[in-house]
Amino acid sequence: MSMEILEERRTSIQEKGRSCCSGDGLRCDTASVAGAVSQRACVYCGARVVLNPITDAFHIVHGPIGCASYTWDIRGSLTSGSELYRNSFSTDLQEKDIVFGGAEKLTRAIDEAVVHYKPRLIFVYATCIVGVIGDDVEAVCRRAEERHGIRVIAVKAPGFSGTKSTGYRMACNALIQLMQPHADQPRAKGVNILGDYNLAGEMWIIKNYLKEMGIPVVATMTGDASYAALTRAPAAQLNIVQCAGSMMYLARRMEDEMGVPWMRASFFGVEDTSTALRQVAERLGDTTAKAKAEAIIRKRAARATDFLERYKPHFVGKKAAIFVGGGFKAISLIRQFNEMGIETVVVGTQTGKPEDYEVIESLVNPGTVILDDANPAELETFMREKGADILVGGVKERPLAYKLGMAFCDHNHERKHALGGFEGVENFTREVNLSLNSPVWRFTRGRNSYAATAARQAAQVRQALAAGI
Ligand code: SF4
Repeated sequence: MSMEILEERRTSIQEKGRSCCSGDGLRCDTASVAGAVSQRACVYCGARVVLNPITDAFHIVHGPIGCASYTWDIRGSLTSGSELYRNSFSTDLQEKDIVFGGAEKLTRAIDEAVVHYKPRLIFVYATCIVGVIGDDVEAVCRRAEERHGIRVIAVKAPGFSGTKSTGYRMACNALIQLMQPHADQPRAKGVNILGDYNLAGEMWIIKNYLKEMGIPVVATMTGDASYAALTRAPAAQLNIVQCAGSMMYLARRMEDEMGVPWMRASFFGVEDTSTALRQVAERLGDTTAKAKAEAIIRKRAARATDFLERYKPHFVGKKAAIFVGGGFKAISLIRQFNEMGIETVVVGTQTGKPEDYEVIESLVNPGTVILDDANPAELETFMREKGADILVGGVKERPLAYKLGMAFCDHNHERKHALGGFEGVENFTREVNLSLNSPVWRFTRGRNSYAATAARQAAQVRQALAAGI
């Protein structure tokens, strides 16, 4: 690797087959290195993105207005019911509140929300400054529950109190708090789907497959979720966990405390979707569902594979870089790129666990750069060095790709086409092709000229400094 890596970051970056670190595994799932300008989101953001898709919940961000705007509607989760969740409410803490405390303001905000919107469920997020001044948010929420007879749940997630994964855990705790009073229900036929956020209708695609297999969906967490459905979730026969990074903790707690077993599944790509449908039917011991799953796979997988084959000539020799939130998505994307004939040359995540990175390493070719909690400089350098043609990431990665004159595919909050299920294979293939082979790249400066320009500019700055300008 040509880049000079910060000493503290060395163990978070590896090149398969030519390890540049201590050789005893990739450092991950730990706090970001101070000053390294991580691509990671904060604890509060982690909690908010998990809970926000609950369509009829009311979200109050207790903190300065910036925290509320940072996560307002960033997750384009779709709804089949209420639109309440698409609003963002904040106590807009000012200097005076920070000096004298913001608990009273929060109490007023909750009361106002109840009068004007009549929600059945309110989440109150405590942000960084609230963690510093120490408002007793839990006590305010408890008193509001007694006053109004609705659920008001505190999510204590100051941004500095851990990593984005800590925020996921806070969100899962809030969901457990919501479900606990309903834990003792008789078992109902059906499953819960955990860790899909219905960003472009993926939850509806998965639900349709299960419906065709004769398997009812009890609750979804949290894409297109509702308060009423969530209270029925403890009755389900099985939890299907897609995004393990955000929901594994919840699945384990639901198994321990409510007796709902879980299984992991991915609905991205032909191979993963087919495996997921078969395994769900198997776990339920439902032979009819198994036969129906095979029928779905026969019909839809063949169509998606045919579609993919037609596009393959456009992808010959292309290389991809992946930087996404969780390990499960990175793994699915590598498999999908393999199906498309595209080699993954750089891959990283914000919240991957050691076991995710083990699978990632087993799927990529020698020479691939694997990195956890990357910063923009590392991503840019490795993408250039490895000759990536396309970056798959989220809103924070998009400008990095465009700055380098590189194709980009949003696989995160802002995507507009469903990328899950067999339908998603066609959408993903189409989107990757459109971006990779767009004529626009002929008119940009391109990766090589970008590097040359950056080097020329750096030389000019050095000259200017030497001349004392
Ligand atoms: S919680 Fe803290 S880190 Fe997160 S957006 Fe608010 S101020 Fe920033």
